[in-house]
Amino acid sequence: HPNRHINVTLLPFGRRQRLLLARDISHLTRLEQIRRDFVANVSHELRTPLTVIHGYLELIDPSDVPELAPVLGEMRAQSKRMGQIVEDLLTLSRLETQEHVADERVQMTPLMATIRREAEALSQGRHHIVLESTAETDLLGSVKDLHSALSNLVSNAVRYTPTGGNITIRWLRTPEGATYSVTDTGFGIPASHLARLTERFYRVSSSRSRDSGGTGLGLSIVKHVLNLHQARLDIQSEPGQGSTFSCCFGHERLLKLGGSDEV
Ligand code: ADP
Repeated sequence: HPNRHINVTLLPFGRRQRLLLARDISHLTRLEQIRRDFVANVSHELRTPLTVIHGYLELIDPSDVPELAPVLGEMRAQSKRMGQIVEDLLTLSRLETQEHVADERVQMTPLMATIRREAEALSQGRHHIVLESTAETDLLGSVKDLHSALSNLVSNAVRYTPTGGNITIRWLRTPEGATYSVTDTGFGIPASHLARLTERFYRVSSSRSRDSGGTGLGLSIVKHVLNLHQARLDIQSEPGQGSTFSCCFGHERLLKLGGSDEV
């Protein structure tokens, strides 16, 4: 039936038999749909009032109200942050309902240079940033989504690495295709948290993460973007030593530089 979702599993049963288990999960799919729509609607409704509040806050000149200047700064920062959360929730809603990505050529050489510049701007000289880009291949997919996912890993590395640390951004060939990775010498993540890291709003240390200015949705967005590109996110981390986040792309996503053939 077109409106029913049936989950079918084949299980071993005895020595030579199999058990076919068919479960009707239509109600779960429906609930998931309701949750998605709700989040998307709330985020959408919050957008306009937030834009108005933010706009008016920007209009106030702190020198007109010197006694309120520190409060004004905080209000601006928080309204900006709330706006970012809403934008990230809308991005997630879009990615969740999307089934395919655009078939665009993602030019990796200029993208890697841009990502490096963004890293330098965020770090403001506090970290030693190195770029190793030897893959010599472009990617097939969404330029906008891949840019935001790959930049996100760099912004996390900057935010979770103390001053003086190293951040290495790599784009390298591997036997299975090509891998983009970001390695930092930062705080690291205890193994028990790794499996849940890409859940929305999941944070290892909420105070540190909130102070660092993130929305708690970054890795969730990265995971969705990679899924849409049939790519895998690998996380390796050692508390107190640092972390490596790797995005592994298969051969079918690679495009020869300058041409249109797959490599
Ligand atoms: P946030 O906005 O909180 O950074 P993310 O989804 O990007 O949200 O990351 C989820 C959590 O994973 C962070 O709160 C942080 O605890 C942890 N994390 C992400 N990247 C790193 C990293 N490079 N080093 C250490 N911890 C990290």
